[in-house]
Amino acid sequence: MQTHREIAQQLDLFHSDPIAPGMIFWHPNGWQLFQDIQAHIRSIYRQDRFQEVRTPQFLKKDLWEISGHMAMYREAMFFGGEAEGEEASYALKPMSCPAHILLYKRGIHSYRELPLKWFEFGLVHRNESSGSLNGCLRLRQFTQDDAHVFCAWSQAKEEIKAFLRRAKQVYQAYGYRQLQIKVSTRPESALGSEQDWARAEAILIEACQQSSEEYEIQVGEGAFYGPKIELALEDSIGRIWQCGTVQLDFNLPERFGLEFTNSQGQPERPIILHQAVYGSLERWIGILLEVTQGKLPEWIHPMPVAIIPVESSADEYARQVVARLLREDINTHMESGDGSIGRKIKRCYAAKIPNIVIVGDREVGENSVMLRRGKEQEHMSLEAFIALLKHQRGH
Ligand SMILES: [Zn+2]
Repeated sequence: MQTHREIAQQLDLFHSDPIAPGMIFWHPNGWQLFQDIQAHIRSIYRQDRFQEVRTPQFLKKDLWEISGHMAMYREAMFFGGEAEGEEASYALKPMSCPAHILLYKRGIHSYRELPLKWFEFGLVHRNESSGSLNGCLRLRQFTQDDAHVFCAWSQAKEEIKAFLRRAKQVYQAYGYRQLQIKVSTRPESALGSEQDWARAEAILIEACQQSSEEYEIQVGEGAFYGPKIELALEDSIGRIWQCGTVQLDFNLPERFGLEFTNSQGQPERPIILHQAVYGSLERWIGILLEVTQGKLPEWIHPMPVAIIPVESSADEYARQVVARLLREDINTHMESGDGSIGRKIKRCYAAKIPNIVIVGDREVGENSVMLRRGKEQEHMSLEAFIALLKHQRGH
């Protein structure tokens, strides 16, 4: 078994450096992977009528006082001033919720607008201890697919069922089949009335039951502001990876005095469903590398093709194939370094490139390719090869 850090090196995805502990330097292959993973979830959120937003990273302490983060989360936050040497009056956001709440508060909302659904690829900072940092599995700077639904209590269950569907759809696209669902209930020191807690817990449990999902209850493991559902994936060797979560929050709407006008024309308090399918995109990539041992699903592979010209007379043709694949948005590595064909093929295998294409005089003459996938080898027209790649990447 290799660690995700070793695999990242073989695939040339990213590195970290003591100059920025707990943060990632993405290389071209890794950033391609990151962006494709981002694009995939973006399209799924859009299909489910979420709108994408973007909010600041460095926000004044006043906001974190209202949100309760100064009291409950201070240890994990980074602070600074507007100018050098100035007393720290700002904090880097450890999550995007309070900023989304400010968006909500810009207008007066009617029940007709709800549920209001926003998501952000929120770049967040959390001051994890240096000893706990681990590749891209545990970081100080990472990107959340941070989604918030502002809705009435009566709408919460359907939204949670939609979240469970969405998460399953995404996990299956990556080949994950075993999903664990845990419902965490009221902890000892909790904010809010027992009545609200009971109501919220019942909603989460009914959403699981009506989605025909098996679930486990973790008594007392909820967040201080509300209960939550946590999703974890099990890999082929039984390791458990915590990923998505949905939390029902009636505390922040109270603290920020959120309202909407209900169908009787009366002001009513909405609730917020905090949710993320990946959790952290960086961590998601780390998990994917560990679980697949670098054999990434082909639709998401940042470098799905390598081309090896066997004679120098095939170089020009190989370059044309690279350009043609790029027009189809398919990255191709041209393996034109030193050594025998055998060694070149070996290098491509070591970089875990799934489609290795060999071209010589025959392929130039026929406008074709010799495709190697694992131990199998097949001769086909360039057009047939492109159709095959498009099929692979269509997930
Ligand atoms: Zn949130």
